[in-house]
Amino acid sequence: MKIESTLTCPSCGHKSIEAMPTNACQFFYDCGGCGTRLKPKPGDCCVFCSYGTVPCPPVQESGKGVFCS
Ligand SMILES: [Zn+2]
Repeated sequence: MKIESTLTCPSCGHKSIEAMPTNACQFFYDCGGCGTRLKPKPGDCCVFCSYGTVPCPPVQESGKGVFCS
């Protein structure tokens, strides 16, 4: 399982490698570039699923298309 994901800010394009929590979803992420508070897109469970390069660990574990709560 991958626990590191590169988050890309949709506002400024700032990229940041972040370690994901393995047993929880992260709903908010403050961009290190412009300070925008990122939230998951509709239908996504967390910021990593919306803006990261790797789905969050609960999604990796349960398979594609299944979201953590
Ligand atoms: Zn930003």
